[in-house]
Amino acid sequence: MEERQKRADADMAAGTLNIEKTWKNARQTDKLAMVKRQLQQMAGGRQRCMYCSDSAGTDIEHFWPKSVYPEQMFRWPNLLLCCTGCGRDCKGSQFPLVNGNPALLDPTVDDPWDFLDFSPATGILFARMDSKGSTSIKGSETARVFQFAKRDAVTLGYRRSFRRISKIIQTILDDPAGHAAAFISDLKDADEHGILGWCFRGAGVNESPMSSLRQNHPAVWSACVSAFKNY
Ligand SMILES: [Zn+2]
Repeated sequence: MEERQKRADADMAAGTLNIEKTWKNARQTDKLAMVKRQLQQMAGGRQRCMYCSDSAGTDIEHFWPKSVYPEQMFRWPNLLLCCTGCGRDCKGSQFPLVNGNPALLDPTVDDPWDFLDFSPATGILFARMDSKGSTSIKGSETARVFQFAKRDAVTLGYRRSFRRISKIIQTILDDPAGHAAAFISDLKDADEHGILGWCFRGAGVNESPMSSLRQNHPAVWSACVSAFKNY
């Protein structure tokens, strides 16, 4: 990768770099196939897109778009796994900046639930409001660029995941004698979209049925909060 980046940098300096062709040629190699496998492993068992967590991650994505920042084309920290909908249809070469810093969530660094909120009724991800009532720029830019409100398949998937999570939480509310460990494992199985972070540390802590669990079963609640701290 380093070698390839050096060659690309030299071509760029000479004014002869063909970004698309260079990337396309590299994608045919075993090394890049290895990079994709590595990213798939990082994306967890479901190998989903790192932006929407809904569709399968099929493409190697450049967080800093290679068409604008070819000096990042072969840099490992710039590579993510994403779906066609997020990468090609939505993001393309869009990359909003604020004071030179990315205004999009970086899935390798940021906790999405610091910046995003979720509506269980619509399945839409949108910018989180802070305690002073201002909206997170990173959250709103991410929701805008990835068009979360307009992608029916994505919102449907999120609604389904949340319904399954709600049902499991309801079982503990109905029968608090159940084991917290089994409960936590059921929740992980049900959560295909990474919403447990929203439920147990994001804005979801104040929503039903999480708020009932927190008030009525504080021990189970604490076990969940610690289980889903980095989830
Ligand atoms: Zn996606």
